[in-house]
Amino acid sequence: MKKLWISILLVLVCIFLSIFFINFFKGKKILVLTGGTLIDGTGKSPLTNSVIVIEKNKIKAISEEGKYRPPMFAKTIDIRGKFIIPGLIDMHVHYTDEAFSDLFLLNGVTSVRDMGNDPEFILSLRDKINAGIVQGPTIFASSFIINNRKIPFGASEYTIVARNPKEAKKIVSDLAKKNVDWIKIYITLPEEMVRTIIKEAEKNKIPVAGHLRRVNARIAAQLGIRTLEHATGIAEALLGEEKFEDAPFLWTISDKTWLHVDKEKYYDLIDLFIRKNIYIVANLTLYQSFVSDGEELKNNPNAKLMSKSIQDGWKRYISSRFLDVTRDKENWRVTKQRLEEFLLLFKERGGKILTGTDTPWPFLVPGFSLHKELKLLVKAGLSPLEALMSATKYSAEALNQEQNLGTIEEGKIADLLILNEDPLEDISHTQNIELIIKSGKIINRKELYLSIIEKQKKEE
Ligand SMILES: [Zn+2]
Repeated sequence: MKKLWISILLVLVCIFLSIFFINFFKGKKILVLTGGTLIDGTGKSPLTNSVIVIEKNKIKAISEEGKYRPPMFAKTIDIRGKFIIPGLIDMHVHYTDEAFSDLFLLNGVTSVRDMGNDPEFILSLRDKINAGIVQGPTIFASSFIINNRKIPFGASEYTIVARNPKEAKKIVSDLAKKNVDWIKIYITLPEEMVRTIIKEAEKNKIPVAGHLRRVNARIAAQLGIRTLEHATGIAEALLGEEKFEDAPFLWTISDKTWLHVDKEKYYDLIDLFIRKNIYIVANLTLYQSFVSDGEELKNNPNAKLMSKSIQDGWKRYISSRFLDVTRDKENWRVTKQRLEEFLLLFKERGGKILTGTDTPWPFLVPGFSLHKELKLLVKAGLSPLEALMSATKYSAEALNQEQNLGTIEEGKIADLLILNEDPLEDISHTQNIELIIKSGKIINRKELYLSIIEKQKKEE
């Protein structure tokens, strides 16, 4: 009899221990954020005293305090008084240096779209980040830029030249085989080639982004383009009959197009964009850099966080080409103002603006520049919430990633930022980041900053 009792006791102890360990290990994988104000990116009003449950890399549940009891042993962080927003997305970067990874993450940029790069480099970096081998933002990439001739400036090495529609078609199908996420087309491509490229890209289910001029945004929209980079091709479409056959392709030097646009044509074009679900990457940081003088740009305190070779490149640029490009300040001031008027009207009629910076365009530091873009969008007339949605929900939509990214909802990837101040009160509060969570993993911001400084020192 005594033996039986001992056996029963042992079995009970075993059951108790297994329940304990199951809960222990289950709980260990769960992170709970309690008490913060959730701005989920959907456009809904903020949820105070929220509870966000993260399991592995996903958002498992969203609830309110008092309505949810976190699992035993879960790691719980009290974020009372703080604000949670989705991870930010920069829709136009040139990720030319692996060291940018830390700068993006440091600033809460958890996804980027690369719009021109060396295919070997960017696609392998993308895959390494996806596999968790290296830490960095999630990358979506076009790799090459397709044009019918080599383009000047720094991007020349990333151009692939298509001389006729047949070559263009082959390039797109080759890039599709390499598994690119986007196709990027450029300034001087003629219409028949743009048509061929978009058709071939559609066949491969790849969206097309355009830095346009010769083919204007009206034609590109009708052909099926998805995003307008730097808001290009719009002024050309508003000009009417004028053609850009020999597309003075240094748009940055010659662009006075916005000075002559026909405002009567705004509504028509905007309605076409909305019907065709076109997204505009406003890229006001770039236009702002044309308005500023070289000195103002050089004074960017974060420039020192960039590698020496990039900083040297910037200095060369400022002292030579930049001055030519931006000499006519009045032109650029009016250009920016007209563009902003157009964007505001586009937004008011239901159009979606995206955030893109073109970093590392001179003195635009990865990550930091996205916060600058947000501020410029608000200055142009967007509400802070609208600007945030540009950098989150709308960008995820344009990427065909609305199932995974862009908002804080159950089932999505846990990319989010915890801010110390309310971004809806002042958009510059997006810079006051307490904590970054990327794919469910907490990133220690202080350590990351110190390691960036350390790497810089070593390079010097
Ligand atoms: Zn670019």
